[in-house]
Amino acid sequence: MNNEEFRKHAHELVDWMADYFDEVEDYPVKPDVKPGDISAQLPDEAPQKPESFEEQIEDFENKIIPGITHWQSPNFMGYFPANTSYPSVLAEMLTATLGAQCMSWLTSPAATELEEQVMEWLRKAIGLPELFTGVIQSTASTSTLCALLMARERISDFKINASGFPTDETYTVYCSSETHSSIEKDVKIAGFGRQNLRTIQVDHEHAMDPKALEESIREDLENGYKPTAVVATIGTTGSTAIDPVKEIGEICARYDIFFHIDAAYAGTALLLPEMRWMNKGIEYADSFVFNPHKWMFTNFDCSAFYVQDEALLVRTFEIMPEYLKTPEDQRVKNYRDWGIPLGRRFRALKLWFVMRSYGIEGLQEKIRQHIRLGQQLKEEIEAHDHFELLAPVPLNTICFRFHPNFIDDKKKLNELNKKLLNQIQESGKIFLTHTKLDGKYTIRIVLGNTNLKQRHVDNAWRLIQDIANKLI
Ligand SMILES: *Cc1c(COP(=O)(O)O)cnc(C)c1O
Repeated sequence: MNNEEFRKHAHELVDWMADYFDEVEDYPVKPDVKPGDISAQLPDEAPQKPESFEEQIEDFENKIIPGITHWQSPNFMGYFPANTSYPSVLAEMLTATLGAQCMSWLTSPAATELEEQVMEWLRKAIGLPELFTGVIQSTASTSTLCALLMARERISDFKINASGFPTDETYTVYCSSETHSSIEKDVKIAGFGRQNLRTIQVDHEHAMDPKALEESIREDLENGYKPTAVVATIGTTGSTAIDPVKEIGEICARYDIFFHIDAAYAGTALLLPEMRWMNKGIEYADSFVFNPHKWMFTNFDCSAFYVQDEALLVRTFEIMPEYLKTPEDQRVKNYRDWGIPLGRRFRALKLWFVMRSYGIEGLQEKIRQHIRLGQQLKEEIEAHDHFELLAPVPLNTICFRFHPNFIDDKKKLNELNKKLLNQIQESGKIFLTHTKLDGKYTIRIVLGNTNLKQRHVDNAWRLIQDIANKLI
């Protein structure tokens, strides 16, 4: 491909992209394919000779698109969103074109300095105190891993970095039974050992019970363990439950335990001053993560990780081989020392484009609209004789089940709701997912897509009722 051909194809693809966004809600949101259907259409060997771009695009449309789950469809209401937006996609095109590898200041000064600046913009926009400094990581999973590694090095005075875990000490980590699965993964990777992760019980609203946390810490101390880190969640993945940050923070302060907050999804709602009650006590946190790549219209990957002790973070990760030394090292940030990978994409650009294109007010308006739609649907579900809510709805994630008043058997209700969700998925019209709360099969609907409108919510609720009614 030469420059002229690149220009031609790029223009064609931009037209394809604009058409896609225009039509995405008409696609079946979940593809109708079985495992192996897509790979069966792909050759076993890479081509020996060049193939034309036209052929590649034809295969993309005919073989790949039919196997895509359309996350950008406003009918996608499962998991949590992985939103994009026009400004974010445009920035990703530029990032791909520059292809800058932003591991240190020198390898792209503008990337480092823009990242510093947009993380400050974002910090102020979500009302985080000035105590915090931010850096973009790939995911909430890796941000939390960084937090646990910082905690590990703080309590061991950097001895674990130097010589590994001592055999005569056991370090413990605490989270709630509703915590995201990435915490367990991180605990294993960071070397704590899964058996040293304490799962604290939750209250009737699925939030961590601080009394149970303190009891568990005390018991561990009595038994000679070293309580090292607590991970609290603002907006659990199951039901967006909000752990009591202030109470947990006070406990962490009392026992000198590293305190990390995972607000991967719900952190975006902190753009709204009226939602800042969620992070009351945030000043106790040593670190905080939220994902603009979920609800804040910024393409995956973009995870905003904030820490109070910048020196601890850098000392945990710093490496200085000869070939990476630069004359400016003492005066600049080298983000390779702020996380796990050496190489880094230029991710600040898309966040900059998103924040400038929407403005804080534009972002707030969208998030408020999503929460309003969520609250409205919550009321309709609550008012329906044959449906019930299974968790509080602080934001725009509604946990519910179909519960006709003549069925009371727990197992039957679970089976009925599993069947309901399956049939909803098979319709291809909307995409929902499930969780289990108190042993109950729970259907989740998340109203946070970039282009979500009232009519999508109305259609979804009508479809859920229609399918449910046909089941009984
Ligand atoms: C989605 C989610 C995660 C994982 O996010 P990644 O960026 O995919 O690692 C972690 N915690 C919570 C609460 C989440 O909702």
